[in-house]
Amino acid sequence: MSGIFTRIRAFWAKPRVRIVFWAALTGLLMGVSGAGLPLEDYLRTLRWMSRTQPAGGDIVVVLQDSRTLIELGVNDTTHGNDADAITHLFRAGAKRVYFGRSFSTPGAPQDDAKFLAALKAHRGKVILGAAVDSNGQMGNYAAKIPLPAYREYAGMASVLVKHRPLNLTVKLPYSSGSPVGQIPSISASIAGVTRGPEDLYFPDFSIAVGSYPTLSYIDVIRGRLDPGAVRGKDVLIVPAAVAFNDIHSIPGQELSAPGGYFHAIGADTLRRGIPREYRWFPAYLLVLIVIVSGLGRGRVLDAYRFTGLVAVLGAAPFLLDLVSIQIEVVPAFCVALVAVIRMRTLDRVEEAGETNTGSGLPSVQALRNSTDLSARILVALKIRNYGGIIGSFAEHVEAQLAKEIVRRIRISDESVLIYHEGGMFVWLSSIRSSFDLFENLEGLHRIVQNGIQVGGIDIDLSFNCGIDSEFDRALSSRVASAMQAAEEAVRSDELVCQHDGRKQEAQWEISLLTSLDRAIDNGEVWVAYQPKLDLRSNRITGAEALVRWTHPDRGPIGPDKFIRIAEEFHRIERITRFVINDAVRVAVELERSGYEMTMSVNISAQLLRNAGLPGMISEILAVHGLSPNRLILEITETDRLDRSSRTFQMLQRLVQSGLRLSIDDFGTGNATIDYLRYLPASEVKIDKTFVSSMEGSKEDLLLVQSIIEMAHSLDRVVVAEGVETAQALELLENLGCDLVQGYHVSRPVPFRDFLSFVSGRRARLIG
Ligand code: C2E
Ligand code: CA
Ligand code: CA
Repeated sequence: MSGIFTRIRAFWAKPRVRIVFWAALTGLLMGVSGAGLPLEDYLRTLRWMSRTQPAGGDIVVVLQDSRTLIELGVNDTTHGNDADAITHLFRAGAKRVYFGRSFSTPGAPQDDAKFLAALKAHRGKVILGAAVDSNGQMGNYAAKIPLPAYREYAGMASVLVKHRPLNLTVKLPYSSGSPVGQIPSISASIAGVTRGPEDLYFPDFSIAVGSYPTLSYIDVIRGRLDPGAVRGKDVLIVPAAVAFNDIHSIPGQELSAPGGYFHAIGADTLRRGIPREYRWFPAYLLVLIVIVSGLGRGRVLDAYRFTGLVAVLGAAPFLLDLVSIQIEVVPAFCVALVAVIRMRTLDRVEEAGETNTGSGLPSVQALRNSTDLSARILVALKIRNYGGIIGSFAEHVEAQLAKEIVRRIRISDESVLIYHEGGMFVWLSSIRSSFDLFENLEGLHRIVQNGIQVGGIDIDLSFNCGIDSEFDRALSSRVASAMQAAEEAVRSDELVCQHDGRKQEAQWEISLLTSLDRAIDNGEVWVAYQPKLDLRSNRITGAEALVRWTHPDRGPIGPDKFIRIAEEFHRIERITRFVINDAVRVAVELERSGYEMTMSVNISAQLLRNAGLPGMISEILAVHGLSPNRLILEITETDRLDRSSRTFQMLQRLVQSGLRLSIDDFGTGNATIDYLRYLPASEVKIDKTFVSSMEGSKEDLLLVQSIIEMAHSLDRVVVAEGVETAQALELLENLGCDLVQGYHVSRPVPFRDFLSFVSGRRARLIG
């Protein structure tokens, strides 16, 4: 329970989560309270304004205008006048006649008689208005309905209109309540639509008032009617004189017009399709989805996507209008606005506190402050001797150098955000598989190895990387792990080290082992080649095959780790077969490309006790067609051998079959000159620990010197491994060492890179 509580707390602690929350809440309140409705109406009006369309043409409006009152010399028309209008209109062929006024009070007796007669003559084709009673029940309720006598022959329809807040626009009901039950609204009646009184709709005010054919009431009752003007049409008679006080501004249209036009426009709207309203929620939901999905990118909402959203929120209602769908966008817009504004503020706060002043890059501190989770691999790249490099140049060099490094990282890891602190560059890689990432870092290493030019000065750089893929931990703690792993990589001299949070080493080994077999099959295990440079001829005359395992989740696993496990669990034979096969294959390929080279492979001591070894090797050689004297087997831990042992006999058998042996890691055991003499090896490899320390240690230099002399006195070729600097190479040359191997020449690399490396050298040597 408390676990859930802490997780919620941690979640809530993220500023971006809070931004989403507040933005969502603002929009929700906006939507529920309807506070955005006036703005919504304003936008709706703008949309109506932006397009106009003509009326359907089936409705003729008859205006009881000022001219009518003046010509009649009265304040209002009578039911007798209305009887005349009805008679003339139907004589001219009108379909139905609607009165947009209430008929709740009787007229003079003779007028009423005439009116009733007209209604009776056109039974059911005259529809009289029903209106709200200003003293009675309000709302969508037409209390003032036509007198029962009229209702006997005439239909009725409500003239009610619902004005919206701030009176920016109106909505019409489909029907209204009345003392005699539900009655249709005029527009619904004309359009023949039946629906309950709780439903309201927006008339489509893009239908121009001016496009309705109109007649003056006075002309109608005097019979001054154009023949054909009303034939087959619905006629709507509406009060229009100023005295009737029923002039309104029409939303989305510049002019004012009698309120009766609302019903005409409403009827045309309904005839074109029943408007559907989805209110504010769909647009709100859309924006919410966009900003929540933005959380994963750590951005919530950037200016770019905000602009996109505003465009969509602007365009969508416009397009939906065309298919009679209404949506509201103000709450959605508020969500987007709150999110983008708060996001910007947050960015600014973060920028201010979290930029590295030296390089201008975001500081690693920004990541340390982040409780975010990320499903990306975190890389920490440590530049060795960064302080020394920066210290020896002018101030602005750091920014330039950082820029160059960032540029190179982004060559293959496009547009990642790179954080910086001292010699560390940290980023969340966009490369998902650690296999690809590892290859990518190797590539980066090769690029950087060529040197970086800053301000016309060549800077020699080398780096190691730590990576962390524990996606379920917060970035703040993953940064520490990745950096630790980078330090570990420096110590163990691996290009990349993967942070490993599993404390259960044993369990880790077992799971490693189970995946090892599969790893060989599916290509996670591969072979790197490191050249051996002949100091006399200055040519690459050999290569050492070094096994690599790039685990898809754990990243590169060093051979030191898994070779030991493979030995312990007797899996070494399979790996060795794989490596020798690859090595022999590429040796043949090299040969075909015109390179005469030896190929060295490492053979575990354990394997030397395996009687099947010579058979396995000769089988591979035969398959590819390589001569055995090209293959050098590097062996270690041989100082405990005695001449009678099976291992010793094995070595002899191997040599007899034409293979060459090399004593690896020479100097680390208790080897004696005597031992060197009886071992049938043709080559001695001085261990890299002595080579790397001989520059600083007199004893080690002497040791290297004596190994070389001793080996030479026995006619053995001497190889120095771990040569990292030009000075070391020069020293070894002076000491008479035959071959060198080490980072100074090249790191172990995939074969295709090895090939381009040697062909590049050859081109240079010839050219
Ligand atoms: P090793 O045989 O002594 O191989 C040389 C190691 O030194 C390699 O490490 C190589 O990457 C590294 N190295 C090369 N140049 C330099 C340099 O200039 N400076 C430094 N500091 N190191 C350099 P790697 O590849 O990690 O291999 C570690 C060990 O794993 C090897 O040591 C070898 O004993 C074993 N191993 C590698 N591949 C195989 C294999 O296919 N079979 C067996 N049985 N063992 C293997
Ligand atoms: Ca070796
Ligand atoms: Ca070694």
